[in-house]
Amino acid sequence: MTTPIIPTIKRNVLLNPGPATTTDTVKMAQVVPDICPREKEFAGLMKGLRSDLLRVAHAPADQFTAVLFCGSGTINIDICINSLLPEGKKILVVNNGAYNSRAVEVCQMYHLPYIDLKSSVFERPNLADIERTLNENPDVAVVYCCHHETGTGVLNPIREIGAMAHRHGAIFISDTTSTLGMIPFDMVEDNVDFCMASAQKGLMAMSGLSFIIGRKDIIEASKHYPTRSYYCNLYMQYDYFERTGEMHFTPPVQTIYATIQALKEYFAEGEEAKFARHRRVYEAIRRGVARLGLETVIDPAIESGLVVSVKYPDDPHFSFERVHDYCYERGFTIYPGKISTTNTFRLCALGTIDVQDIEDFFVVFEQALRS
Ligand SMILES: *Cc1c(COP(=O)(O)O)cnc(C)c1O
Repeated sequence: MTTPIIPTIKRNVLLNPGPATTTDTVKMAQVVPDICPREKEFAGLMKGLRSDLLRVAHAPADQFTAVLFCGSGTINIDICINSLLPEGKKILVVNNGAYNSRAVEVCQMYHLPYIDLKSSVFERPNLADIERTLNENPDVAVVYCCHHETGTGVLNPIREIGAMAHRHGAIFISDTTSTLGMIPFDMVEDNVDFCMASAQKGLMAMSGLSFIIGRKDIIEASKHYPTRSYYCNLYMQYDYFERTGEMHFTPPVQTIYATIQALKEYFAEGEEAKFARHRRVYEAIRRGVARLGLETVIDPAIESGLVVSVKYPDDPHFSFERVHDYCYERGFTIYPGKISTTNTFRLCALGTIDVQDIEDFFVVFEQALRS
């Protein structure tokens, strides 16, 4: 017998909007004996994982299911849009930022009929505009909106948008990639028919595993919708899971082990305690930004509490890249913004980090600005 080698792993504080800082136990959970994912043992692991994901979203197991995919989070956007639009119907994208624009791009790629209801990236979408658009377009069968526009930090009023979609006989898909497991979300109360996320964000696991949680009856009905992709088809993957308990094609084996460990840690930390931790990390970021006299672009009243968009300092010598590199060399990662009209960078409250990490970061960040 050889003794296992447990390496010490450098801890980096990631302030980018995912992948997030993970625990060493999640990292190490990936180091397992080789296994063929077609073994019953592995299917059993995925069964537990899928039901735990429903618990995270507060989705009742009799009406909802979790369907797993191998890919980054964007695969979910692609799958939901191409799989859930019936023949001859339109999709309405409520668009106030970069991640909603990604859904518009998916519609374009598949040549689907869509309405791009664009509004300011600095604000929440206007509910009256959505209502009017739905009244004028009775052929809208799918309404789509991000829960949290990760590009800016704006939290969208999904509960109201979902209720409106339902009143007009449409289904509601929400991209919850950057909120699930980090701020309150309830599939039923929030009027969401399909939500989505990937393992490397709120769950604090590794990248490569994405999942869609949605209504079984709608997925069953989508069997008769036009098929627009082979690999990225929701019904096909769901049906395979139902019949075999497995993914249709090779799953991201090691990421699945990491996600199972991450979910154990999620339930051990507790939903409320985790939400509170992200909140205090966010508040520490806001305090640090204010202390340095930097300006932010989004009104805190409409922020998710997970992303802060900060304007570049008003100094001709400021270089984002040099500040980034200075911080990166010292274990802190900051991230560029996604607002085309203003130069911003983002500081995010994802991952297994706490207030002390943010205070340590601001010491380094201030040195970076000075140098
Ligand atoms: C991170 C994120 C995604 C997925 O991005 P990938 O780079 O494909 O993992 C999708 N939507 C939102 C809102 C996100 O924050």
